[in-house]
Amino acid sequence: MNFLEFTKRFPTEEDAIDFIVATKYKGGYICPNCGCVHKGIYHQNYDKRKLYCNNCKSEFSALVGTIFENTHLDLRVWLYAINLVVLSKKGISALQLQRETGIGSYRSAWRMLHQIRSCMGKESYKDTFDALVEIDETYVGGKPRKDNHHTSSSSKRGRGTDKIPVVGVKERSTGKIYAEVALPDESGKQLTGEQLMKVLDSVCKEGITVMTDQFSGYNILDDAAKNVRKYARVKVDHSTVFSLGSGKHTNGIEGCWSILKRAVFGIYHHISVKHLQKYVNEFCFRLNYRDCNEAFDKLINLSVA
Ligand SMILES: [Zn+2]
Repeated sequence: MNFLEFTKRFPTEEDAIDFIVATKYKGGYICPNCGCVHKGIYHQNYDKRKLYCNNCKSEFSALVGTIFENTHLDLRVWLYAINLVVLSKKGISALQLQRETGIGSYRSAWRMLHQIRSCMGKESYKDTFDALVEIDETYVGGKPRKDNHHTSSSSKRGRGTDKIPVVGVKERSTGKIYAEVALPDESGKQLTGEQLMKVLDSVCKEGITVMTDQFSGYNILDDAAKNVRKYARVKVDHSTVFSLGSGKHTNGIEGCWSILKRAVFGIYHHISVKHLQKYVNEFCFRLNYRDCNEAFDKLINLSVA
């Protein structure tokens, strides 16, 4: 939505509340106090954020369990922030959000963005990839090890640095992407075959074809005992120029990494390990919902879930 569309859709705060409540309750609710079923929405007159039960005469917050539950801000500010997040191509910084919404502090704007990102993380990708996928990993943030300073061979791929690995899967036909931060396992190993397999299992249907590069972690796919979901592996040889024409490549997911890295360095500058997954969720959501209106509605649904 552009600014005029937004003001037409939500001229007052009540419109914003009505929209959120309608999304959450879909035209009815059960009283949390007496269990009575209400087929309509009954707001308290003195506070639209409260719903009312005429059976037991109790009231409760309409926003309970949503990201809007504890806010004192005008709910249009929240919807406007969500709209800005959706409209921005690469993401929006807390400072920019603070400027555009007039939120009192940088901290509040930062918290709001994190809550919006946490909604993006609720999106489920289970079994969503049912055709050819590419899998690849990249490294984000941190600093390269000092001993790698002048060795281009290791900095080229990132393996062997103390940056944080992120594993991503992209379905080629739909362009859908799923990615997750791959922190080291209990024994300190990272990007193990098991870890990579777990990522595939969390999003892919059984038996689909998986394109990988020559990284040894993906050899787990060649192990019939461990590849229980029977993915067919196609190994891409990066040293062969001719791999492109054959369709044997992982260029799709590699292209996504360059977008992720530009977002990290261009908008957010520095991201801590603790929060990296949230930014990765935002990145995936943004690529998976390119239509802004669809993305807005999806995000509101996730924010009240
Ligand atoms: Zn009741």
